[in-house]
Amino acid sequence: MRNGDLVLVRPGESIPADGVVRKGESDIDEAMITGESRPVKKREGDEVIAATINGEGSLRVEVTGTGDKTKLSGIMRLVADAQTSKSRAQHLADRAARLLTVAAIGAAVVTFGAWQLAGAAMDFSVVRMVTVLVIACPHALGLAVPLVVAISTTLGARNGLLVRDRRGLEEARNLDTVIFDKTGTLTLGEFRVVAMSVAEGLAEDEALRIASGIEAESQHPIARGIVKTAEDKGIAVPSADGFRSITGKGVAATIDGVEYHMGGPALLKSEDVQVPPAVIKTAGAAADRGQAAIYLVREGKALAVFAVADAIREESREAIAALHERGIEVAMLTGDAQAVADAVAKELGIDTVFAEVLPEDKASKVRELQALGKKVAMIGDGVNDAPALATADIGIAIGAGADVAVEAGHIVLVRSDPRDIPRIITLSTATYRKMAQNLWLAAGYNIFAIPLAAGVLAPWGILLTPAVGAVLMSASTVVVAINAQLLKRVKL
Ligand SMILES: [Mg+2]
Repeated sequence: MRNGDLVLVRPGESIPADGVVRKGESDIDEAMITGESRPVKKREGDEVIAATINGEGSLRVEVTGTGDKTKLSGIMRLVADAQTSKSRAQHLADRAARLLTVAAIGAAVVTFGAWQLAGAAMDFSVVRMVTVLVIACPHALGLAVPLVVAISTTLGARNGLLVRDRRGLEEARNLDTVIFDKTGTLTLGEFRVVAMSVAEGLAEDEALRIASGIEAESQHPIARGIVKTAEDKGIAVPSADGFRSITGKGVAATIDGVEYHMGGPALLKSEDVQVPPAVIKTAGAAADRGQAAIYLVREGKALAVFAVADAIREESREAIAALHERGIEVAMLTGDAQAVADAVAKELGIDTVFAEVLPEDKASKVRELQALGKKVAMIGDGVNDAPALATADIGIAIGAGADVAVEAGHIVLVRSDPRDIPRIITLSTATYRKMAQNLWLAAGYNIFAIPLAAGVLAPWGILLTPAVGAVLMSASTVVVAINAQLLKRVKL
C-alpha cells in the first residue's frame, strides 16, 4: 500500500491507512483516536484516520499516509518522547543505598585514619575498619525495599491494579489532581438510551420493545445502543418484518403487523409528524446535552423519543466522590464536543472540563497543570490519551482500552473500574510507609553500631568484634523481612 493507492474499506473493517474518501459514505467510529463518542459521518473529500472503525457503508479511500506517516504513529512518537524526556526520578531505595554506601566507606576510612593517628597498631586499625564496613554495609537494605515492592505489586494485582512502572505507584500518595478522559473511561464508550419519553397510553418498556425490534436490523452504533438497552432491561426483542431504510431520514419496519418509522429530527420534518409535548421536551434536553434523539413514529404520530448517548459508568460517580473526599481535584480532558462533555461533568460533579482537545494537546494540558506545581494523575483508555498518560506523574490506563494506552500507563486498571483509583492511593501510601520503616530498620541501627564498631568506647574496654557485627547485620535482615510481610494486611 502506497500513497495514492485506492483501497476499499468494507463495513465494520478498520481503516488501514490515513486517507481521503473518494467514493461512498459511512459513519466512522473515531473514539479511539479523537475521543469523540458519536460516529462521524464521512463523505467524498473527507479525511479518515488509520485504525478507526468503519460503520455500515463501503468506502473507497485514497491513501495519503502509511506506516510512520500516519496520525497514529505521530501519537506513538509523542508517547516515546514523553517517556524519554521524563526526568529519571530516582527510587527511594536507590537514593538511600547510595547515601549509605558513601557513609559506610567514609566511616571506615575515617576509623582507620583516626586509629593510625592515635598511634594504634596497624592490625588493630584494620580490624576496626573491617568491623565498621561489615556493620555499615547496607545489606538488609538490598532486601528492605525490593521485598516491599514485591509484596505491594502482588497485593495490587490481587485487587485488579497492575503496576507496570513503580515510579507511578510511588508518586500516587502525593497526588493532588486527577484528570479523567471521558469516552471509554468515565463512560462505557458504548451507546445506551439515557432518557426517554412516550406518548400517552404507551408504556416505556413497550416503546423500547418495539424500537429494539426495528433497530435490531441495523448495525449502526446508535441502533445497537437501543437494542442493548432493551436487552439490559430483560425485554425480549421482537423480530421485525419488511425492514427498509428511508434514505437520509431513518428506517421503517413492521412489528406485530403494525408499521413503524424510526429516525432523527430529519424524519419528523419530512413526514410532518405530530409530536406530543413531553416528547418535545425530552428531545430538547437531549439536544442541549449533545445526545442523539431518535423518534418512534406510527401513522404520522411520534409515539416516543429515545435520547441515546455514550452511557456513564455507574462506578464513575462513586470514584469521583471518593477522590473529592480525599481533597483531590478532579478534571476531565476530552476530545468530544463541549456540550457532551459539560453534560457528563455536571452529572458526575467534575470541577474542571477541557473539551474538544486534540490528542497532541492532551499531554500539554497535563504539563500545564504540572507547571503549576501539581502532582497529576491521568486516567485514559484511548490512543489519544497515550501521550498524556506517559507525561503525567501517574499514568493510569483502563484495562479494556487500546494497547497503546496500556503500554503508556504506569498502572493498569484490570477491571476498568474508576473506583480503583482511590485504592491506588491507599496502596501507594501503605507501600511508602512500609519502605520508609524498612529503611530505618535496615540502616537505623548504624547510628549507634558504627561508632561502636569504630571503637569509640575502646578506652572503656568495649569493642565490637567483626563476628558480632555480622550477627547484628543478619538480625536486621530478618526484622526487615518480617516487617515487609505485614504489608499484606493492608485493606484496599
Ligand atoms: Mg477515551
